Amino acid sequence: MNARVIDFYKKMNSNGVKNRIDSQYWIYEINSEIKRVNGLSKRFIQVFFFNRYFNENENLMRLYLLVNGQEIQQDRFSKMSTNDPNVLAFILEVDLAEEGKDVEIIGYIQDGKKIDLKGDYVKPFTVNDAPETLRILKLYEFSGQDKEVNVLPKIDEDHWICMCGNYNPIEDTYCKVCATKLEEARRIANIDQKSLILNNINKVIKREGNETVDDMINRYVYKFQITYGFSKEEILEHINRDELIKNNGFNNSINTGKTEAISDNGSASYDSQTTEIHVTPVDNNPPTKNNKLIMIAGVIIGIIILVFLVQSLMEPYLQEQCYEKGGLWINGACEMFNEGF
Ligand SMILES: [Zn+2]
Repeated sequence: MNARVIDFYKKMNSNGVKNRIDSQYWIYEINSEIKRVNGLSKRFIQVFFFNRYFNENENLMRLYLLVNGQEIQQDRFSKMSTNDPNVLAFILEVDLAEEGKDVEIIGYIQDGKKIDLKGDYVKPFTVNDAPETLRILKLYEFSGQDKEVNVLPKIDEDHWICMCGNYNPIEDTYCKVCATKLEEARRIANIDQKSLILNNINKVIKREGNETVDDMINRYVYKFQITYGFSKEEILEHINRDELIKNNGFNNSINTGKTEAISDNGSASYDSQTTEIHVTPVDNNPPTKNNKLIMIAGVIIGIIILVFLVQSLMEPYLQEQCYEKGGLWINGACEMFNEGF
Protein backbone atom coordinates (compact mmCIF):
# COMPACT_ATOMS: atom_id res chain seq x y z
CA MET A 1 0.00 0.00 0.00
CA ASN A 2 1.02 3.56 -0.43
CA ALA A 3 0.31 6.34 2.06
CA ARG A 4 -0.54 8.66 -0.85
CA VAL A 5 -3.83 6.81 -1.22
CA ILE A 6 -5.15 9.00 1.60
CA ASP A 7 -4.58 12.14 -0.49
CA PHE A 8 -6.36 10.57 -3.44
CA TYR A 9 -9.34 9.67 -1.22
CA LYS A 10 -9.50 13.23 0.04
CA LYS A 11 -9.37 14.67 -3.48
CA MET A 12 -11.90 12.20 -4.83
CA ASN A 13 -14.33 13.04 -2.01
CA SER A 14 -13.86 16.79 -2.20
CA ASN A 15 -14.20 16.73 -6.00
CA GLY A 16 -17.36 14.61 -5.75
CA VAL A 17 -16.11 12.12 -8.35
CA LYS A 18 -18.28 9.08 -9.12
CA ASN A 19 -16.41 5.81 -8.59
CA ARG A 20 -17.72 2.29 -8.22
CA ILE A 21 -16.99 0.12 -5.22
CA ASP A 22 -15.85 -2.84 -7.36
CA SER A 23 -13.41 -0.87 -9.51
CA GLN A 24 -9.67 -1.19 -9.01
CA TYR A 25 -9.22 2.21 -10.69
CA TRP A 26 -10.65 5.30 -9.10
CA ILE A 27 -10.73 8.80 -10.56
CA TYR A 28 -9.65 11.49 -8.12
CA GLU A 29 -9.74 14.64 -10.22
CA ILE A 30 -11.39 15.91 -13.40
CA ASN A 31 -10.58 19.25 -15.00
CA SER A 32 -12.21 20.95 -17.93
CA GLU A 33 -10.37 23.74 -19.69
CA ILE A 34 -10.31 25.73 -22.87
CA LYS A 35 -7.00 26.14 -24.71
CA ARG A 36 -6.04 28.01 -27.85
CA VAL A 37 -4.67 25.52 -30.38
CA ASN A 38 -3.46 26.90 -33.73
CA GLY A 39 -5.62 29.97 -33.26
CA LEU A 40 -8.78 28.01 -32.37
CA SER A 41 -10.41 27.60 -28.96
CA LYS A 42 -10.77 23.98 -27.94
CA ARG A 43 -12.14 22.36 -24.83
CA PHE A 44 -10.35 19.51 -23.07
CA ILE A 45 -11.18 17.27 -20.14
CA GLN A 46 -8.25 15.98 -18.10
CA VAL A 47 -8.89 12.91 -16.00
CA PHE A 48 -6.56 11.77 -13.19
CA PHE A 49 -6.96 8.32 -11.63
CA PHE A 50 -5.09 5.68 -9.62
CA ASN A 51 -4.81 1.94 -9.16
CA ARG A 52 -6.07 1.74 -5.61
CA TYR A 53 -4.12 -1.43 -4.72
CA PHE A 54 -0.91 0.18 -5.96
CA ASN A 55 0.11 -2.96 -7.87
CA GLU A 56 -0.05 -1.66 -11.44
CA ASN A 57 2.37 -3.26 -13.86
CA GLU A 58 0.93 -2.11 -17.19
CA ASN A 59 -2.09 -4.33 -16.43
CA LEU A 60 -4.61 -1.72 -17.50
CA MET A 61 -5.20 -1.86 -21.26
CA ARG A 62 -8.47 -0.01 -21.77
CA LEU A 63 -10.98 2.05 -19.83
CA TYR A 64 -14.67 2.13 -20.73
CA LEU A 65 -15.98 5.52 -19.77
CA LEU A 66 -19.16 7.50 -19.57
CA VAL A 67 -18.29 11.09 -20.47
CA ASN A 68 -21.21 13.48 -20.10
CA GLY A 69 -23.56 10.58 -20.77
CA GLN A 70 -21.72 9.33 -23.83
CA GLU A 71 -19.87 6.00 -23.86
CA ILE A 72 -16.26 6.07 -25.01
CA GLN A 73 -13.17 3.96 -24.60
CA GLN A 74 -9.67 5.08 -23.79
CA ASP A 75 -6.55 3.02 -24.52
CA ARG A 76 -3.76 5.51 -23.88
CA PHE A 77 -2.69 6.65 -20.45
CA SER A 78 0.12 8.85 -19.21
CA LYS A 79 1.97 8.12 -15.99
CA MET A 80 1.94 11.10 -13.65
CA SER A 81 5.50 10.32 -12.62
CA THR A 82 8.08 8.17 -14.40
CA ASN A 83 8.69 5.78 -11.53
CA ASP A 84 5.11 5.29 -10.39
CA PRO A 85 2.82 3.34 -12.73
CA ASN A 86 -0.14 3.56 -10.31
CA VAL A 87 -1.14 7.17 -10.89
CA LEU A 88 -2.35 7.83 -14.41
CA ALA A 89 -4.03 10.49 -16.52
CA PHE A 90 -5.53 11.04 -19.93
CA ILE A 91 -6.97 13.98 -21.81
CA LEU A 92 -10.01 14.14 -24.08
CA GLU A 93 -11.15 16.80 -26.47
CA VAL A 94 -14.86 17.56 -26.15
CA ASP A 95 -17.15 20.00 -27.92
CA LEU A 96 -16.44 23.61 -27.07
CA ALA A 97 -20.02 24.03 -25.81
CA GLU A 98 -19.76 20.95 -23.56
CA GLU A 99 -19.45 22.50 -20.13
CA GLY A 100 -20.03 19.32 -18.11
CA LYS A 101 -17.12 17.23 -16.88
CA ASP A 102 -19.01 14.20 -15.71
CA VAL A 103 -16.63 11.26 -16.22
CA GLU A 104 -17.02 7.80 -14.73
CA ILE A 105 -15.33 4.45 -15.27
CA ILE A 106 -17.89 1.78 -16.23
CA GLY A 107 -15.46 -1.00 -17.07
CA TYR A 108 -11.93 -1.84 -18.12
CA ILE A 109 -9.69 -4.40 -19.74
CA GLN A 110 -7.03 -5.57 -17.33
CA ASP A 111 -4.46 -8.18 -18.40
CA GLY A 112 -6.61 -8.90 -21.43
CA LYS A 113 -9.73 -9.59 -19.34
CA LYS A 114 -12.79 -7.36 -19.63
CA ILE A 115 -14.36 -6.28 -16.38
CA ASP A 116 -17.80 -4.65 -16.30
CA LEU A 117 -18.42 -2.67 -13.15
CA LYS A 118 -21.73 -3.30 -11.48
CA GLY A 119 -21.10 -2.11 -7.93
CA ASP A 120 -22.65 0.86 -6.22
CA TYR A 121 -21.05 4.26 -6.24
CA VAL A 122 -18.62 4.86 -3.41
CA LYS A 123 -20.33 7.14 -0.93
CA PRO A 124 -18.32 10.11 0.36
CA PHE A 125 -16.19 9.02 3.30
CA THR A 126 -13.63 10.53 5.64
CA VAL A 127 -10.35 9.15 6.92
CA ASN A 128 -8.49 9.92 10.11
CA ASP A 129 -4.80 10.31 9.33
CA ALA A 130 -3.97 12.88 12.02
CA PRO A 131 -0.18 12.54 12.49
CA GLU A 132 -0.37 12.47 16.29
CA THR A 133 -3.01 9.70 16.32
CA LEU A 134 -0.93 7.62 13.90
CA ARG A 135 2.28 8.27 15.84
CA ILE A 136 0.64 7.04 19.05
CA LEU A 137 -0.84 3.99 17.31
CA LYS A 138 2.51 3.00 15.81
CA LEU A 139 4.44 3.65 19.00
CA TYR A 140 2.10 1.97 21.49
CA GLU A 141 0.23 -0.70 19.55
CA PHE A 142 2.73 -1.77 16.89
CA SER A 143 5.97 -0.91 18.63
CA GLY A 144 8.87 -2.62 16.88
CA GLN A 145 6.60 -4.22 14.27
CA ASP A 146 6.84 -3.69 10.56
CA LYS A 147 3.15 -2.85 10.28
CA GLU A 148 1.96 -0.29 7.76
CA VAL A 149 -0.17 2.25 9.58
CA ASN A 150 -1.31 5.01 7.24
CA VAL A 151 -4.70 5.71 8.74
CA LEU A 152 -6.83 4.95 11.77
CA PRO A 153 -9.07 2.02 10.72
CA LYS A 154 -12.77 2.80 10.35
CA ILE A 155 -15.71 0.44 10.01
CA ASP A 156 -18.81 1.75 8.23
CA GLU A 157 -22.05 0.21 7.07
CA ASP A 158 -20.96 -0.77 3.57
CA HIS A 159 -17.17 -0.61 3.80
CA TRP A 160 -14.18 -0.58 6.12
CA ILE A 161 -10.90 1.27 5.84
CA CYS A 162 -7.93 -0.81 6.87
CA MET A 163 -5.00 0.76 8.73
CA CYS A 164 -2.87 0.28 5.59
CA GLY A 165 -5.36 2.67 3.96
CA ASN A 166 -7.22 0.25 1.72
CA TYR A 167 -10.96 0.69 1.25
CA ASN A 168 -12.61 -2.75 1.55
CA PRO A 169 -16.26 -3.65 0.96
CA ILE A 170 -17.88 -4.77 4.23
CA GLU A 171 -18.29 -8.33 2.84
CA ASP A 172 -14.49 -8.74 2.79
CA THR A 173 -13.31 -10.14 6.11
CA TYR A 174 -9.64 -9.67 5.22
CA CYS A 175 -8.00 -6.57 3.76
CA LYS A 176 -7.29 -7.20 0.09
CA VAL A 177 -3.94 -5.41 0.32
CA CYS A 178 -2.33 -6.30 3.67
CA ALA A 179 -4.50 -9.24 4.84
CA THR A 180 -5.42 -7.59 8.15
CA LYS A 181 -8.60 -9.11 9.58
CA LEU A 182 -11.73 -6.98 9.74
CA GLU A 183 -12.03 -7.93 13.43
CA GLU A 184 -8.49 -6.72 14.11
CA ALA A 185 -9.26 -3.42 12.34
CA ARG A 186 -12.44 -3.12 14.42
CA ARG A 187 -10.45 -3.69 17.61
CA ILE A 188 -7.92 -1.00 16.68
CA ALA A 189 -10.70 1.40 15.64
CA ASN A 190 -12.35 1.02 19.05
CA ILE A 191 -9.25 1.54 21.15
CA ASP A 192 -9.34 4.82 22.96
CA GLN A 193 -6.10 6.73 22.88
CA LYS A 194 -5.72 6.99 26.64
CA SER A 195 -5.88 3.26 27.34
CA LEU A 196 -3.68 2.60 24.33
CA ILE A 197 -0.96 4.75 25.84
CA LEU A 198 -1.39 3.59 29.43
CA ASN A 199 -1.62 -0.13 28.61
CA ASN A 200 1.58 -0.01 26.61
CA ILE A 201 3.47 2.43 28.74
CA ASN A 202 6.14 -0.11 29.81
CA LYS A 203 7.11 -0.84 26.22
CA VAL A 204 7.95 2.78 25.58
CA ILE A 205 9.93 3.72 28.65
CA LYS A 206 13.66 3.69 27.88
CA ARG A 207 16.57 4.39 30.18
CA GLU A 208 18.84 7.32 29.39
CA GLY A 209 22.52 7.34 30.33
CA ASN A 210 23.09 5.79 33.74
CA GLU A 211 19.96 7.10 35.45
CA THR A 212 18.43 5.01 38.20
CA VAL A 213 15.10 3.20 37.88
CA ASP A 214 13.41 5.93 39.93
CA ASP A 215 14.93 8.74 37.88
CA MET A 216 13.77 7.06 34.72
CA ILE A 217 10.22 6.51 36.01
CA ASN A 218 9.96 10.07 37.33
CA ARG A 219 11.15 11.49 34.01
CA TYR A 220 8.45 9.58 32.13
CA VAL A 221 5.68 10.30 34.64
CA TYR A 222 6.40 14.00 34.19
CA LYS A 223 6.53 13.61 30.40
CA PHE A 224 3.18 11.79 30.25
CA GLN A 225 1.59 14.33 32.60
CA ILE A 226 2.73 17.24 30.43
CA THR A 227 2.12 15.64 27.02
CA TYR A 228 -1.23 13.92 27.59
CA GLY A 229 -2.58 15.52 30.74
CA PHE A 230 -2.91 12.20 32.62
CA SER A 231 -2.74 12.23 36.40
CA LYS A 232 0.37 11.02 38.21
CA GLU A 233 -1.62 8.28 39.99
CA GLU A 234 -3.07 6.93 36.73
CA ILE A 235 0.37 6.75 35.17
CA LEU A 236 1.99 5.10 38.18
CA GLU A 237 -0.82 2.52 38.31
CA HIS A 238 0.18 1.28 34.87
CA ILE A 239 3.91 1.32 35.40
CA ASN A 240 5.40 -2.11 36.07
CA ARG A 241 8.69 -1.54 37.85
CA ASP A 242 9.91 -5.13 37.51
CA GLU A 243 9.25 -5.15 33.77
CA LEU A 244 11.12 -1.87 33.37
CA ILE A 245 14.11 -3.15 35.31
CA LYS A 246 14.21 -6.22 33.07
CA ASN A 247 13.64 -4.32 29.77
CA ASN A 248 16.23 -1.67 30.44
CA GLY A 249 19.09 -3.89 31.46
CA PHE A 250 19.26 -2.79 35.10
CA ASN A 251 19.76 -6.39 36.23
CA ASN A 252 22.44 -6.83 33.65
CA SER A 253 24.33 -3.79 34.89
CA ILE A 254 24.16 -4.89 38.47
CA ASN A 255 25.52 -8.34 37.69
CA THR A 256 28.25 -7.54 35.23
CA GLY A 257 28.45 -3.76 35.26
CA LYS A 258 28.93 -3.89 31.53
CA THR A 259 26.88 -4.64 28.40
CA GLU A 260 28.46 -5.05 25.03
CA ALA A 261 27.26 -4.39 21.50
CA ILE A 262 29.14 -5.34 18.37
CA SER A 263 28.34 -3.73 15.01
CA ASP A 264 29.76 -4.01 11.50
CA ASN A 265 31.71 -0.83 11.91
CA GLY A 266 33.65 -1.84 14.93
CA SER A 267 32.82 -2.51 18.51
CA ALA A 268 31.22 -0.38 21.16
CA SER A 269 31.10 -1.08 24.84
CA TYR A 270 28.99 0.63 27.41
CA ASP A 271 30.18 0.86 30.97
CA SER A 272 27.35 1.61 33.31
CA GLN A 273 29.63 2.78 36.10
CA THR A 274 31.41 5.48 34.13
CA THR A 275 28.79 5.99 31.35
CA GLU A 276 31.60 6.30 28.84
CA ILE A 277 31.03 4.85 25.40
CA HIS A 278 34.15 3.45 23.74
CA VAL A 279 33.95 3.05 20.00
CA THR A 280 36.66 1.43 17.92
CA PRO A 281 36.04 2.27 14.29
CA VAL A 282 37.14 -0.06 11.51
CA ASP A 283 38.88 1.76 8.65
CA ASN A 284 39.39 -0.30 5.51
CA ASN A 285 40.22 2.46 3.04
CA PRO A 286 43.42 4.49 3.03
CA PRO A 287 42.69 8.26 3.16
CA THR A 288 44.04 9.07 -0.35
CA LYS A 289 41.61 6.67 -1.99
CA ASN A 290 38.76 8.27 -0.03
CA ASN A 291 39.71 11.75 -1.19
CA LYS A 292 39.73 10.64 -4.81
CA LEU A 293 36.28 9.06 -4.42
CA ILE A 294 34.92 12.21 -2.75
CA MET A 295 36.25 14.31 -5.64
CA ILE A 296 34.61 12.07 -8.26
CA ALA A 297 31.33 12.12 -6.30
CA GLY A 298 31.57 15.94 -6.13
CA VAL A 299 31.98 16.22 -9.91
CA ILE A 300 29.03 13.87 -10.53
CA ILE A 301 26.79 15.83 -8.13
CA GLY A 302 27.88 19.07 -9.87
CA ILE A 303 26.88 17.69 -13.28
CA ILE A 304 23.51 16.49 -11.95
CA ILE A 305 22.78 19.93 -10.43
CA LEU A 306 23.71 21.61 -13.75
CA VAL A 307 21.39 19.32 -15.74
CA PHE A 308 18.50 20.02 -13.34
CA LEU A 309 19.17 23.75 -13.56
CA VAL A 310 19.08 23.76 -17.38
CA GLN A 311 15.94 21.59 -17.35
CA SER A 312 14.10 23.81 -14.91
CA LEU A 313 14.96 26.93 -16.95
CA MET A 314 13.69 25.29 -20.14
CA GLU A 315 10.51 23.85 -18.61
CA PRO A 316 8.18 26.90 -18.74
CA TYR A 317 9.03 27.42 -22.41
CA LEU A 318 8.52 23.75 -23.34
CA GLN A 319 5.29 23.65 -21.33
CA GLU A 320 3.90 26.65 -23.21
CA GLN A 321 4.86 25.00 -26.53
CA CYS A 322 3.14 21.80 -25.42
CA TYR A 323 -0.14 23.59 -24.63
CA GLU A 324 0.13 25.44 -27.98
CA LYS A 325 0.15 22.04 -29.68
CA GLY A 326 -2.78 20.97 -27.50
CA GLY A 327 -0.90 18.44 -25.36
CA LEU A 328 -0.86 17.82 -21.63
CA TRP A 329 2.28 18.59 -19.64
CA ILE A 330 2.92 15.63 -17.35
CA ASN A 331 6.09 15.00 -15.39
CA GLY A 332 8.34 17.12 -17.57
CA ALA A 333 7.11 15.71 -20.87
CA CYS A 334 4.47 16.70 -23.39
CA GLU A 335 1.76 14.07 -23.76
CA MET A 336 -0.58 14.29 -26.75
CA PHE A 337 -4.26 13.45 -26.44
CA ASN A 338 -6.77 11.59 -28.57
CA GLU A 339 -8.32 13.52 -31.43
CA GLY A 340 -11.86 13.83 -30.10
CA PHE A 341 -14.38 11.04 -29.88
ZN1 LIG B 1 -4.84 -3.37 4.81
